[in-house]
Amino acid sequence: MSRPLETLPSPAADVIWSSGVTAGDLPAGPANTQLQPDGPAIAVAHRSIVLVGLMGAGKTTVGRRLAGRLGIPFRDADAEVERAAGFTIAELFARYGEAEFRRGEQGVIRRLLSGPPIVLATGGGAFMDPVTRHAVRQSALSVWLRCPLDVLVRRVSGRGHRPLLAEGRPRDILSALIERRHPIYAEADLIVDCNDDGVEHTTDLVHRAIAGWMPPQRVEVSLSQARYDVLVGAGLVARAGALLAPLLPQKRVVVVTDETVAGLHLPTLLAGLADTGIDAESIVVPPGENSKTLACFGMVTDRLLALGVERRTTVIALGGGVIGDLAGFAAASVMRGLPFVQIPTTLLAQVDSSVGGKTGINTRAGKNLLGAFHQPIAVLADTDMLATLPIRELRAGYAEIFKAGLIADPDLFDWCETNGAAVLAGDPAIQAEAVRRACRFKADVVGDDEREEKPDNGRALLNLGHTFAHALEAEMRFDGRLLHGEAVGIGLLLAFRLSVRLGLCPVEDADRVEAHLRRMGMKTTISDCGCTLSASALAAHMQRDKKMRDGRIAFVLVHRIGNAFTSRDVASSAVIELLQTQGCIVENMSRDLKEP
Ligand code: NAD
Ligand code: ZN
Repeated sequence: MSRPLETLPSPAADVIWSSGVTAGDLPAGPANTQLQPDGPAIAVAHRSIVLVGLMGAGKTTVGRRLAGRLGIPFRDADAEVERAAGFTIAELFARYGEAEFRRGEQGVIRRLLSGPPIVLATGGGAFMDPVTRHAVRQSALSVWLRCPLDVLVRRVSGRGHRPLLAEGRPRDILSALIERRHPIYAEADLIVDCNDDGVEHTTDLVHRAIAGWMPPQRVEVSLSQARYDVLVGAGLVARAGALLAPLLPQKRVVVVTDETVAGLHLPTLLAGLADTGIDAESIVVPPGENSKTLACFGMVTDRLLALGVERRTTVIALGGGVIGDLAGFAAASVMRGLPFVQIPTTLLAQVDSSVGGKTGINTRAGKNLLGAFHQPIAVLADTDMLATLPIRELRAGYAEIFKAGLIADPDLFDWCETNGAAVLAGDPAIQAEAVRRACRFKADVVGDDEREEKPDNGRALLNLGHTFAHALEAEMRFDGRLLHGEAVGIGLLLAFRLSVRLGLCPVEDADRVEAHLRRMGMKTTISDCGCTLSASALAAHMQRDKKMRDGRIAFVLVHRIGNAFTSRDVASSAVIELLQTQGCIVENMSRDLKEP
C-alpha cells in the first residue's frame, strides 16, 4: 500500500518541510575571486540558482563549486528528498512509485526555493514536472547543463544506484532520455554547454553565463478578459521556444511573416521554437501595406485551414504592424479565434501595434475598416530585431514613442529629448527602455478603456496626431512615399499647431515638439511630404475617418505637452485654415463639411 511521500514518518521530513533551510546549509567553500562578484551578485541577488540536466551532467559537483564562488549555500534536491523521506531515491521509486516521489520532490523544492538564495542541483526528472518547473520559473534562475550523449554515457557507466539506469544499456536509456527531456530542459533561463573540460572549467562557464544574464523586462497588460506580458529585451526570438512553451495550449504554431522579415529572422525563430520541441509551419506574404487586403487575408486564412490548424494551434505574427494586424485578424477569425502571439520586428510594432489587441485590414473604403479586437497571449519585443531595420522605419516607430509622452507622460517626452538620438543610433539598452516605457503607457491606457468606448479621452487619446496622419496617408494612397509613423510625426505637430490656433496650448510647446522632430531628422510639416496636397481633400478624408462621431471630426487636442484631450468641437474651417498655413492648397470646400 502506498502512502503519500509527504506523510512519511521521518523526523527529517519535519525539519526540512517546516523550515526549508537547515544547519547543513553552509557555503561549500571559500568565495572565489576569479570573476568579479558584482555582476552575478547584483543580477541574481535575490534568486536561487537551479541546475537542471540529465544524470551525469555534473549538477552536484558544479553546483557545489558555484555555490562556493557565489558565497551562498549548496543543496542537492535528491539528497534533501532522501533525507526528508528516510529512504534512498531507489527505495522511494520502488515503494511508492514515481508519481508519489515527484509530489514529495515538488514540496521539497518549493520549500527550498522559498528561503534565502541557494544553489540547488535537481534530479534529472525534477524540471520535467510542470509544477516544479513553474516553481523554479517563479523564484529562481534555471541553468541547463547540456552535455553530449557520449560524455554522459562515460560518466554514468558503472554507477549502479540510479534507478533509471537499472533497466538496460546506459547509452540506450540516456539517448531516449535526451530525446524526451532536452526540449523541456531548453525552457531553462540559461543553457551552458558542457563536455569533458573538467569541473572548474564548467563552473567558470556557468558563472560567466549567470554574470551576463539579462532578464527581459516585463510589462503586464491587464484587461477585463485577458492578461498577458510584453517581454522586452535582447535575444528573445532566439529563446522564443523557452519563453512561449509554458504559454502555448499546444506545442504547435503557425508563423505568419513577410518576405523581408522571413529572410532576416525566421530561421532564428524556427530554431528557437524547435529547441523546446514546438512544431512550426510558416506562411510568408509580400512586405508592405498592400498585404493588409481582403485578398491576402483570404490567402492567409485559407492556408491556416489547409494546414489543419486546431483550436489550440497558436498563430505567431513575426513582423511589423502590417503582419501583426493581418495575422491577428486571421487568428481572430479562423475557427472564431485561435491563440495569438505577437513578435513585433519594427519599432512601431513594438511600441504600438502589438499591444492592445486591435487587428484588421484595409478596404477600398479606407484603412483598418475591417477588423477585430483579438488580444495576444504574449508579446516578445526583441531589440535584436531592430538592428536590421532601416533608419527610416526606426524613425517612423519613434514617433509613436514620443506621441505617448505628448499625450500624458511629460517625463517620457523629457526622456525622449535626452535619449531619442540613442534610440535611433541603435543602443539596445536605450531602445529596450524606450519600448518598455511606451508599452507601459499604452498598456495603462488600453487597460482603462479596452474597446475605446469612453465618450471622452480614454483609448481615443492614442489617436493624437492620427486624424491628420490618416488623411495624409490616404491622400498619398499608401504608396510608400509616406510611412505611417512619418505621417504621425507630421500629424502630432499639426495637432499642436491646431491647439495653439484654438487658444488651447502655448506656442512654446508646439515649437518644442517641432524642434524635437527636426533634431531627430523626422518629417515635420506637410511640405516634407514632397507633393502638393489639397486642404479640402485632406479634410474630406478626415470626415470619412472612422473616428468621426455624429458627423463631427473627433480630434485629440492638447493643453500642453503631456496633457491631451478629445474634442468634437473643432470647426472644419479652423482645420482648413491651419492646413493652408502649413502649405496645402485650398480648392472649393466640400459641401459636406459640417460646422459645429
Ligand atoms: P510594416 O509591417 O509594413 O513594416 C515596415 C517594413 O519594414 C516592411 O517592409 C517590413 O518588411 C520591414 N521590416 C519589418 N521588420 C524588419 C526588420 N526587423 N528588419 C528589416 N526590415 C523589417 O509597417 P509598420 O510600420 O511596422 O506597421 C504599420 C502598420 O501598423 C500599419 O498598417 C498600421 O495601420 C498598423 N498599426 C496598427 C496598430 C494597432 O493598434 N493594431 C497601431 C499602429 C499601427
Ligand atoms: Zn499610429
